[in-house]
Formats: sequence, structure tokens, C-alpha cells
Amino acid sequence: MINIVEKSKCCGCTACSNICPQKAIEMVKDDEGFLYPSVDKSKCNNCNLCTKICPVLNKKTVEKKQKGYVLNNKEENIRADSTSGGAFTPIAEYVLDRNGVVFGASYNSNLEVIHIYIEKKEELYKLRGSKYVQSFLGDSFKKVKEFLENDRFVCFSGTPCQIEGLKNFLGKDYEKLITVDVMCHAVPSPLVFEKYKSFIKKTKLNNEEIESIIFRDKSKYGFKYSTMTVKSSKKEYYRGVETDPFLRSFFGDLSDRPSCYDCAFKKQYHESDFTIWDCFIAEKFNKKLDDDKGTSRMLVNTEKANQIFDEINNKFEFTEITPEKLTENVKEMTNSVNLPEKRKDFFADINKLDEEAFFKKYFPDSLKVKVERFIRITLIKTGIYKKVKTLAKKILRK
Ligand SMILES: Cc1cc2nc3c(=O)[nH]c(=O)nc-3n(C[C@H](O)[C@H](O)[C@H](O)COP(=O)(O)OP(=O)(O)OC[C@H]3O[C@@H](n4cnc5c(N)ncnc54)[C@H](O)[C@@H]3O)c2cc1C
Repeated sequence: MINIVEKSKCCGCTACSNICPQKAIEMVKDDEGFLYPSVDKSKCNNCNLCTKICPVLNKKTVEKKQKGYVLNNKEENIRADSTSGGAFTPIAEYVLDRNGVVFGASYNSNLEVIHIYIEKKEELYKLRGSKYVQSFLGDSFKKVKEFLENDRFVCFSGTPCQIEGLKNFLGKDYEKLITVDVMCHAVPSPLVFEKYKSFIKKTKLNNEEIESIIFRDKSKYGFKYSTMTVKSSKKEYYRGVETDPFLRSFFGDLSDRPSCYDCAFKKQYHESDFTIWDCFIAEKFNKKLDDDKGTSRMLVNTEKANQIFDEINNKFEFTEITPEKLTENVKEMTNSVNLPEKRKDFFADINKLDEEAFFKKYFPDSLKVKVERFIRITLIKTGIYKKVKTLAKKILRK
């Protein structure tokens, strides 16, 4: 029976609760806002299916022949709507064109991040764009299986742990399943996100209901300095990475799931068909791709993905790059995030302090933050941000 003694050994993928034939495992929220399996021992018959399919307990490393690409979606509106270069949409469209279904992370009506499935291209916008919060999977894995058993094409997109959880849950290969994972830094807590939404609503939007959230909005200052944008019907809040409290908690690694600090899925060879992630250094691979509107990197991990890429590559401006070059210095592929000392206090305070006191304590809008914001925006407006950033990185490396 699954027994989570150390929280760092559970990625919350839901494979165990979905597989349990006795329906004895429920995913229950802890006081950090993350879900963990809880077993009703009176229902459990010790079949141990849950431990056999847990992707953290059963780590895999299968070497594969990969291909690498740097690419931009040719459709400007799709690229604008996507977090990086719009790599995900053509894969999803390939499946929808074959009467398939596409699973991915979206918002529900309370702006919580959840996995949904869609069957029409007009609905793809719901899945586009990274939501930097652990998504609620519910019974998505069971639904995927049902569609596959009914001979439908299925595209499932998510984090590497979600993909491995799904594949273990399914227990066999399905020709019509196409999986896409994002190269994941770490997943932040849904509770921190809830607190953040109340904070922004109260302090920046005159208490008006939030209507939309974009985690990395490229429309304000471009791809390389994307902002968090939160809108109500009358007001709009946007702030960059050094100022916005949610982005500061994400990039400061304070709000991540405990398993992300010892992630079992940091490796070169992912179990997915495609792995997609940001490319902030497109000019290094192909100058023509670097227009600051968003560029993706893509690893094609399987022969199936290779054939699909051949069919969809007319949707992209792209350059092929060796997998070694493409993944050089990509820390989020191989390294877990560092555990900050402050994390314990941060989560102890989240349930004690109100939203204003909480975010002001951990992310004060200090003079240093204001000066940094002023410098960044001035550099962007004068068109020399990229040059100065590259120079600063070189100096820091020395
Ligand atoms: C939690 C998280 C951490 C990430 N960390 C990094 C990183 O460290 N470095 C990096 O280069 N890129 C990272 N990415 C990936 C990056 O943000 C882009 O998603 C990726 O480049 C694809 O962009 P796109 O333009 O091709 O696709 P888009 O059209 O923007 O597609 C977004 C895709 O991400 C999926 N997705 C969105 N939110 C979630 C979520 N909460 N959980 C699971 N799946 C989700 C959607 O289902 C969809 O398939 C991360 C993404 C997420 C969700």
C-alpha cells in the first residue's frame, strides 16, 4: 500500500488513486495546498498496484535516439498566445484533425489550474500558455484510457511527472497516444496561487473580480522580459519577474512542491514523445528566429514523434540542432531546484497571515526592487536590454 512518509517522494501524479481497484485512495490537500494520496485501509486489499505503478518509486532511464529543433510557429496569433514559440499547438492540431482529444492544463471558472480535455480546435486557446501552478488532474488518466480503448487519438500534455504517472497507469503502449511534456523547473503550490489572487484583487484591482491571468505575457515587454498580467473588467495589473510576488516566489523556488527539490524526472531521456521548452538564446542557433516574440526548443523523443514532426513541420520556421547542443546548460533538465532555508517559514506563515501581510513580508516592494524594475524597463525601452543582459551574464560567469 502506498504510504507517503516523506513528502519529497510523492509528485502528486494521481496514478495510484486512479489505478486502485478498490477505490481506496483519495488525493487529499495538505496545509501547503498540495495533494497526496490517503488510503482508506478498510477498503485496501494489499494488491500493491499503487506502489508498482508509482513513477517516483519506479524510476526509469531509457536511452533514446532523439532529434532536436528550435522553432517558431508561423501563425503570429498562435505564437502570441503561447508562452514560447507555440510548439504545442500543431501537435495538438494533428490529433484533433484525426478526431482525437487533447488533454492539457487550463483554468476553471474560479481560475484554478486544472487538466481538461478538448475536442475542437477553437478550444485550444484554453490549453495554450504555461500556468506555473501544479494542475489538478482529477480522473484525467481514467478518461485518457477510456478514449484510447475506444480507439481515439489522444494527446496528453503536462509535466514530466504527469506523463510518467500516466504511462505507468496505462501499463502498455498505445499507438494513438501522443504525449508532450514541458521541460519543468518545478511546480508551485495552488495555495500560494489562491493567496496571490486575493492579494492582487484586493491591492491592485479595487476588489473587482479577476477575469484573466497570463503568467508570462509577452505583449508588454516581449518574450525575454515577460510579465504576470492579471485583469478585471476595468483594471489591469502587470509586473515583471523582479517585482511580482508570485513570479518572485516561483523563481526564488520558495513555493514548489517538496518532490521538486529532489525531482525523480530530471534526465536527458524523457518518457514523452515530445519535450518542449523556452529558447531565450535563439540567436545562438539561428539569428532569423530571434525576434523576441517567443521561440521554443523541442526534443523529439520517439519514432512516432519523428513521423508526426515530419507531417507538421510546415507549421514552423525551424532549425535542426543536435540534442546535445540543444540541451547544453539546460539546468532544468538535469538539476532539481534548491531548497531555500526560508521555505519552512514561508509555508508556516501562509496560513497565519492575511494576503497583504504575507506577500509584503516575503516580497517587499523595496527600493532595490523599484530600482531594478526601473533599470530593466529603461533598458527595454531603449532597445539595449538584451545586450546588457548578455554582458552581465558574461561578467558574472567570469
Ligand atoms: C510548471 C511549468 C514549469 C516550466 N518550467 C520551465 C523551465 O524551467 N524552463 C523552460 O524553458 N520552460 C519551462 N516550462 C515550459 C514553458 O513555460 C512553455 O510551456 C513551453 O516552452 C511550451 O511553450 P509553447 O509556446 O510551445 O506552448 P504553449 O501553447 O504555451 O503550451 C503550454 C503547454 O503547457 C502545458 N501546461 C501549461 N501549464 C501547465 C501546468 N501547470 N501543468 C502541466 N502542464 C501545463 C499545456 O497543457 C500546454 O501543453 C515550464 C512549464 C510549466 C507548466
